[in-house]
Amino acid sequence: MTPFFITTPIYYINARPHLGHAYTTMVADAIARSRRLLGDDVFFLTGTDEHGQKVERAAQKAGVKTAVFADEVAASFRQVCQDLHITNDDFIRTTEPRHIRGVQALFEKIAAAGDIYKGKYEGFYCVGCERFWPEKDLIDGKCPDHKTPAQWLSEENHFFRLSRFAAPLREHIRKHPEFIVPDIRKNEIVNVIEGGLEDISVSRASAAWGIPLPGDPGQTVYVWFDALINYISGVGYPDTNGTFARYWPADLHVIGKDITRFHCIIWPAMLMSAGVPLPRTVLGHGWVHFQGEKLSKSLGNIVNPLDISERWGADALRYYLLREVPLWRDGDFTWDLFIQRYNSDLANDWGNLFTRTVSMVHRYRGGKLAVAEAGEALAPVIQEAWASYHAAFDRFEIEAGIEAAWTIIRRANRLVEEGAPWNLAKDPARAQDLDRLLGSLVVALQNTALLLFPVMPSKASLVWEALRLEPSIDQARFPAPGGALSPPPTGVVLGESKPLFPRIESK
Ligand SMILES: [Zn+2]
Repeated sequence: MTPFFITTPIYYINARPHLGHAYTTMVADAIARSRRLLGDDVFFLTGTDEHGQKVERAAQKAGVKTAVFADEVAASFRQVCQDLHITNDDFIRTTEPRHIRGVQALFEKIAAAGDIYKGKYEGFYCVGCERFWPEKDLIDGKCPDHKTPAQWLSEENHFFRLSRFAAPLREHIRKHPEFIVPDIRKNEIVNVIEGGLEDISVSRASAAWGIPLPGDPGQTVYVWFDALINYISGVGYPDTNGTFARYWPADLHVIGKDITRFHCIIWPAMLMSAGVPLPRTVLGHGWVHFQGEKLSKSLGNIVNPLDISERWGADALRYYLLREVPLWRDGDFTWDLFIQRYNSDLANDWGNLFTRTVSMVHRYRGGKLAVAEAGEALAPVIQEAWASYHAAFDRFEIEAGIEAAWTIIRRANRLVEEGAPWNLAKDPARAQDLDRLLGSLVVALQNTALLLFPVMPSKASLVWEALRLEPSIDQARFPAPGGALSPPPTGVVLGESKPLFPRIESK
């Protein structure tokens, strides 16, 4: 089996999980699930970033010890993974000994390479960003992102010779066009590198909540430097046998566009310095904007879209975000659009295809199929859907993969209208036509279930089970290129035709 190592960023625990975290994690989960269906040996890592002044302050504000605060918030991130059916194989916390060991080891390697030196750092620092800002970028002395006053910081720090890596980074990006996707992010990074890279401070004298710096225990490792290392400590580094040897370099770091500089400049430079191979691809997606508006009274008082999973199932939220927010641009979450997509795509299109197909098999054939073949109307549509689906996932265009599945759903729903099975059922001379139609609809459902399993795992499982397909869907495999799934069983009684997505009645 081919190893495939995929990561999300580890989430900073100064705040509770929100829609943005959920989106990144769902993107990674959909890709991880699709790689498992391709037969890859997937390792999917997520976790929490727990050090730094910002966390210390948030704990103070909450009136609890920092470690207790960290435990609580980390637990809430784990809970979101469960609620949204995320299939991460591991969850790393930067306060864990295994991570601390990895950070100190990598730091020592970089120091041994001559890329760490001691110097004085002075500048305007924003605790909100955990970064220094050049004076020219401040607005009235305030951080342009946080609109809070930046503080003047002057301390002895250890510096990383980032400036030394401008040329090697440029070379790497040129030779590996797949290193940064989409192109819009690559161009941004290339511009930053061409503008020149300055050495960065990688330790703090003033932040006590952090990993002690090897050789200078009065200082702690800069929180970003610390956090990035989770990608290797999470697979066992500094032990470079076993898990690390199997999965590193990572195949895909999924991140939000705001942290591309850390992932496409600082992180690869750190690895180059330490002589560790670079990850294959960094995918920087856009943001999900949510205005924070409440759902209308008639639908209840949900404020946080993350609570959708309780009311309408995680799949509905997964579908909406993966469909509505392509990776290369920002997207919006609005309740109106959510309800519209839910009702038209999920309840009407896919949900209806499922319930009416299964209920017709029960009504006309006692629940059993006589034949199970795609038939000439659907076979080419299914073939084509698989081809465009794979092409889309190869480019990380999950929304185009979803659209490929929908070509089957739409064609199958049209077949029902055209074939009018309710008329066929009245005419004994056309019994075979009815058998063929029902069989092809079931094959359509089988294919859509597998195509959509990475996006909507629970509903796809329900469909799969109702069609009595084996093995279970999480053990299933995509058909080989140009091939087809083995046909559903005939002669067994299908499951019930429960509504997959009960309509949301909004008045
Ligand atoms: Zn800031």
